[in-house]
Amino acid sequence: MNRPTLPTFVFAMLTSAALAEGGFYGDPPDATHPWGIHDMNRPQPPRVEPGNAMTAPSDAVVLFSGKPEEIEKWISDKNGEPTKWVVKDGVLQCVPGSGYIRTKEEFADCQLHIEWSAPSKVEGNSQGRGNSGVFLMGAVEVQVLDNYNNPSYPDGMASSIYGINPPLVNPLNAPGEWQSYDIVFRRPIFKDGKEIDPGYITVLVNGVLTQDHTPLEGGGGHMRRSKPKAFPEKGPLKIQDHGNPVRFRNIWYRPLPKRAVDGGEYSRMSEEATAAKRAEIAKGIREDAAKHEGNAKMLRLFESLCYAENAEAKEFALAAVNDFATAMKAVPAGKIESKKGEILQVTKALRYLAQFKILAEEPAARQELEAIIKTNDWEPKKK
Ligand code: MG
Repeated sequence: MNRPTLPTFVFAMLTSAALAEGGFYGDPPDATHPWGIHDMNRPQPPRVEPGNAMTAPSDAVVLFSGKPEEIEKWISDKNGEPTKWVVKDGVLQCVPGSGYIRTKEEFADCQLHIEWSAPSKVEGNSQGRGNSGVFLMGAVEVQVLDNYNNPSYPDGMASSIYGINPPLVNPLNAPGEWQSYDIVFRRPIFKDGKEIDPGYITVLVNGVLTQDHTPLEGGGGHMRRSKPKAFPEKGPLKIQDHGNPVRFRNIWYRPLPKRAVDGGEYSRMSEEATAAKRAEIAKGIREDAAKHEGNAKMLRLFESLCYAENAEAKEFALAAVNDFATAMKAVPAGKIESKKGEILQVTKALRYLAQFKILAEEPAARQELEAIIKTNDWEPKKK
């Protein structure tokens, strides 16, 4: 069964079915994975309304969408005063000589979208033509440059990580047309002065990959080889004034969750982080179990044991399953068919718990329920 590819309504039905069954399904959690395989206790990804070419997705922080008042989200990088850059016809334009701008907002790891357009009147060449730049955390420059039929040094071309890495390809439109940058930025992480993650940057220009998870080497820079260095927790986004009236529009970002090396939640985590997460998931399931009665409660408690030991939950569930088996044994042969669903469901859970050695020893109930299944020939026939 491949659940995620099913239509939503079918998936929703399976979801509640899986919950009702207690979810004894894929491989259980292990020392470095707090969730099992196909685990319904794993949080659902939040729904986000996608954007299109001209609108940001619903969870984005919009830095500029074309409104004149949005200039207030930006200040002069030189002195923190209001910038002299202008908003005209829904476009944010660099006024040469007025200096870099930066956001008041500070952030770090992000997905950033920005569109730019170099002057249609072509002037200058190499680095002198349509030059600007997008500075993540105010430090790492993703170069903005009109390189349409305009060669320059490769590690300074459009969408290069300036002074560090050239773009893979040059997918620019002609000057005057709009270019889009989609950037995934991960800042360098240092712990106790030691680099544990260099930081990475991925860039798509007009939908074409130009930086593929490129490791950072510090911030990059002009003429000097950049060296890895620790970054602060946050920084502003800066846009460069390099003397050309480059225009910008549709600027937004989405903050990204922490990486595993930084204590973030991923499929695979450190053993310490996994143990803590498994304890948290188990607690949530036990709390949910308390809202149920009978087999539903028992199965939820057994399920919690797949994540973390808990003497009380185990004792309750074992007593309940043995009571259940005793009660089922007492059901007259003529009425046992009405209990088929429950018996198969509980037995499936017990088989799972045995297969993955979740319980130190098997409850007596297992063999009693297996005997009822065998006597009544309820086992699904293998095809
Ligand atoms: Mg530049």
